[in-house]
Amino acid sequence: MLDRLEELYAVGGGVGANRVGGSDGEDRAHELAAGWMQEAGLEVEVDDAGNLIGRTADAAVWTGSHLDSVPGGGKFDGALGVVAAIEAVERVGKGAAVVFRDEERGCVGSTAFVEGGDLPAGFLEVHIEQGPVLERAGVPLGLAQGIVGIVRGERIFEGKAGHAGTVPMEGRTDALVAAAEYILRVRDLAAGVDGAVGTVGQLYVEPGAANVIPGRVRVSVDLRAPDRERLDRLVAALEVEPDFRLEPVPMAERPVTALREELEGRGLPLVELPSGAGHDAAILAAAGVPTAMLFVRSLNGGVSHSPEEESSAEDVELAVDVLAAALKRLT
Ligand SMILES: [Zn+2]
Repeated sequence: MLDRLEELYAVGGGVGANRVGGSDGEDRAHELAAGWMQEAGLEVEVDDAGNLIGRTADAAVWTGSHLDSVPGGGKFDGALGVVAAIEAVERVGKGAAVVFRDEERGCVGSTAFVEGGDLPAGFLEVHIEQGPVLERAGVPLGLAQGIVGIVRGERIFEGKAGHAGTVPMEGRTDALVAAAEYILRVRDLAAGVDGAVGTVGQLYVEPGAANVIPGRVRVSVDLRAPDRERLDRLVAALEVEPDFRLEPVPMAERPVTALREELEGRGLPLVELPSGAGHDAAILAAAGVPTAMLFVRSLNGGVSHSPEEESSAEDVELAVDVLAAALKRLT
């Protein structure tokens, strides 16, 4: 598995993982995975959306993740769930390993997959945590409580542009000052809602000159929360007009129990965490597939979407053991 992760990491060249959805790098990574699936004796097919599937006869329970990356991404995001899936299906001798296309730009492949309607009886996704919770707790693996809901939108602040030198401070309507106050509110309100996060990551200032009072500012807003009530509360309080919304999705009892009992059986502490990132598992769960996620401890403080992203060999080994055992139970 570690060799395979290295091989995938080298695919796009340059610093970090460079396998952006739709790129030659993503195609090459799918070819590598298809080869490993064949070596594992799986029947390999590609669906209409380009998702790669390797399965045994009568495969009911599926596991997998994605092989696209952000530019300069990490070694484990997506790739870990794919190499673990191929290994687990090979060990169990029954099941399907799937590689979804283009996850980072909005779960393109898994969305097409569920719209295709050929849905499995169960889905498990192993994924690097991409956060610091497990490392801080000193625990190698964790279970997803559910997939957080996401609302993205923007807010526009209108002011009055003017000469930076001749318009007195008194009576100015500076759109960027209003936006700055709003950004602080995003931080404070999100911090006050358990399990929620809020981020302003883009700022467009017009006219955007050093010697002109900002007349109009547009800010992006990204809000995430573990359930609909908390998400709606933030959206209303921050007056965000959503142009993207992903509903929070709970995990299913049966696959979660299979993973939990495997963790307990190994004497591992149970840590349940909300997943702060969108995942293919969320798309399948929202489509009604009984789904669970197993998170693997991120080192380096949980940094992800970065070449600094790291998990230990021991944690990877433990993750695939638990995945394979849960897959066997469910099968
Ligand atoms: Zn991912």
